[in-house]
Amino acid sequence: MAKKCIFCGEEIPAFNGKKLDCGGYTETVCADCFEKYHNLYGVELAQKILATGRAKNHIGIRDYLNERIKAEQETLEREKKKEEEFNNSHPETGKCPKCGGSMRQYGPITFKLGEETFLFSDLNRLMSGSMAVRLERCKECGYTEFYTPNENELL
Ligand SMILES: [Zn+2]
Ligand SMILES: [Zn+2]
Repeated sequence: MAKKCIFCGEEIPAFNGKKLDCGGYTETVCADCFEKYHNLYGVELAQKILATGRAKNHIGIRDYLNERIKAEQETLEREKKKEEEFNNSHPETGKCPKCGGSMRQYGPITFKLGEETFLFSDLNRLMSGSMAVRLERCKECGYTEFYTPNENELL
């Protein structure tokens, strides 16, 4: 009996079947559908395959899909937690004058002053050693303001 393409349901002519791998399970599709779907992978492909109702590895692919969704949710939660930790340690100080994004505080950061510090090249002539600066940086556009809390370091 000729195999049928799981996507379009058409009978696949002998030796024209293509194998599509989804989460380690192989399904047989026609050449046209292979062209259409072989660039999909992961969740997208698994959803497409399950939607056909014709997958011979339906249960396995469904489990694979659930695992992938769970893994993606865990990644999202991890990223959210990281973002929260970042926000807690970098309090918002106001709005960015360039784009209106949220400015966040960094530092104090100690800059080593030397020939390699292009940022303070004019000051380098006046200073040696290091200088403590506090930064406020826009999280959206990267606009940064410098604060130099210790005037002594500039004198
Ligand atoms: Zn097909
Ligand atoms: Zn900005």
